Amino acid sequence: MAYSYEAPVSQTLFDRASLVTPGGVNSPVRAFRAVGGTPRFMVSGTGPYLTDADGREYVDLVCSWGPMILGHAHPAVISAVQDAVARGTSFGTPGEGEVALAEEIVARVEPVEQVRLVSSGTEATMSAIRLARGFTGRAKVVKFAGCYHGHVDALLAAAGSGVATFGLPDTPGVTGAQAGDTIVLPYNDLEAVRAAFAAQPGEIACVITEASPGNMGVVPPLDGFNAGLKEICAAEGALYISDEVMTGFRTSKAGWYGIDGVRPDLMTFGKVMGGGFPAAAFGGRADVMAHLAPAGPVYQAGTLSGNPVATAAGLAQLRLLDDAAYAKVDAVSAELRTLVGEAFTKAGVAHTVSAASNMFSVFFTDEPVRNYEDAKKQEAFRFTAFFHSMLEQGVYLPPSAFESWFVSTAHDERAVERIAAALPAAARAASEATA
Ligand code: PLP
Repeated sequence: MAYSYEAPVSQTLFDRASLVTPGGVNSPVRAFRAVGGTPRFMVSGTGPYLTDADGREYVDLVCSWGPMILGHAHPAVISAVQDAVARGTSFGTPGEGEVALAEEIVARVEPVEQVRLVSSGTEATMSAIRLARGFTGRAKVVKFAGCYHGHVDALLAAAGSGVATFGLPDTPGVTGAQAGDTIVLPYNDLEAVRAAFAAQPGEIACVITEASPGNMGVVPPLDGFNAGLKEICAAEGALYISDEVMTGFRTSKAGWYGIDGVRPDLMTFGKVMGGGFPAAAFGGRADVMAHLAPAGPVYQAGTLSGNPVATAAGLAQLRLLDDAAYAKVDAVSAELRTLVGEAFTKAGVAHTVSAASNMFSVFFTDEPVRNYEDAKKQEAFRFTAFFHSMLEQGVYLPPSAFESWFVSTAHDERAVERIAAALPAAARAASEATA
């Protein structure tokens, strides 16, 4: 596909980056491989806008893949960071900021009785499954195809073939032994979960699921799915782990738990709780968390865990996220979903706008999407044309058809108008696209 616009400074930076960093990026999806073209190197962000190295401004619908729910450079977050950083950047000792952040999480999310802070969502899920294995004395882990829990070896086993199956490593570098205890099942299929437990009685330590998946596009749980998982786990002596790295403190004050009320044994958090800094967490039942070192035998640690600058940023952000803030994010999301749906309908493009609270994405199909297999049936080539038209018109979307779009409290009328103005041409481009 040829692009009618250029980004020479970004291209130069990408060329430089590619010499010293594999693929030119520090996280693969940033490289635009799914959509082609030059990844934009951003130099600054304010509110709902990002500015790239070529001086072009975009309305940002990625929000750093979720964290920036107050928009970029929110004055209260910046000021908290400045205060913290002036006192020093890391002490390697306990500090009051991490206690305050833990208290805020415990106060918001009722099933979390105790919480441990870490630095990334990957660490959070990795530690949660280690703890589940240590607590239950069992080895096997159930996950769902299309759910992403970070690049944890055992959780990169992704694609089973329809029915319950042992996971195969999905990437070189993950051994059969690391993935062999992972059972990958189709999402939204409780029968498959029951069958897996029946086939391996007393062997499954935990079921880990995205509370509401956003990593195969947005595919919410069917009514009763999470409750069913919880019930099966409770009956089988396994732990139910709800991964709220993406949904936590975004979909409501108490994340997805605040919406479905299904009580997990363990939960994982990241993104929003760090205010744009590397901070994440896992927590849950006190009797399970008591197995974690130094209180218990399951080892887990981190030089920068509970970092004072990261915790200050996260706490400042969470304290601003009251009911009014969520109402605002939900309203902007609803408005954009309507605009996007109308634009595709007008252009005659088969589509489904799929939402989970204020997270949403578009599938280029009008068939229901309930799991990863369904999601993969969409006409993803249309997304490429849509993406580049939006980018050219100053709207920055996630560079993949299988990612959630994110908005913030800072997405105001002007930002929405700019998106609305870009949609008709982009929807036309999608309708004209060929595979
Ligand atoms: N879990 C979920 C649901 C995620 O969406 C992600 C990242 O996108 C992770 C875990 C991993 O988090 P991180 O990228 O901070 O390691």
